[in-house]
Amino acid sequence: MAVRACGLIIYRRLQSAPSSKVTDGIEYLLLQTSYGTHHWTPPKGHVDAGEDDLQTAFRETQEEAGLQASQLTLIEGYKKELHYPAHGKPKTVVYWLAEVKDCNAEIKLSEEHQAFQWLKLEDACKFAEYEDMQATLKEAHEFLCSKK
Ligand code: AMP
Repeated sequence: MAVRACGLIIYRRLQSAPSSKVTDGIEYLLLQTSYGTHHWTPPKGHVDAGEDDLQTAFRETQEEAGLQASQLTLIEGYKKELHYPAHGKPKTVVYWLAEVKDCNAEIKLSEEHQAFQWLKLEDACKFAEYEDMQATLKEAHEFLCSKK
């Protein structure tokens, strides 16, 4: 059976110039792992016994980025599932999309990550490196653009 993990694609909206599109001011939060090849990923982690997927996504975001559920707005209508092999086992990762209410909210990393960045879509895709993660970020961005 596949290992199951859940997480949140977190974004913030910067104050944009009046003439620019609202989505121009969107930045995505990526964390750099302190393990393995130090890849960049949204906060996510394994589902604990007795927890549902969304609870896991919020708990992992709190543990890995220091953001509480009360600091976030879950965006209805977006959910994405990724499947890839990790450490020789199939892994499923489910992501939701959430906006941080205060764009200056403090990010507090756990020992699992060594750095974080807020990145515009293009740069987020460069750092995210895996094609399925890049496609996930692009889809999330298109989803946000389509809502405006
Ligand atoms: P993670 O799931 O981020 O904890 O990473 C576990 C392993 O899977 C690491 O070796 C990563 O480099 C690899 N990995 C992470 N994300 C992806 C992905 N989207 N596609 C393929 N491999 C990945």
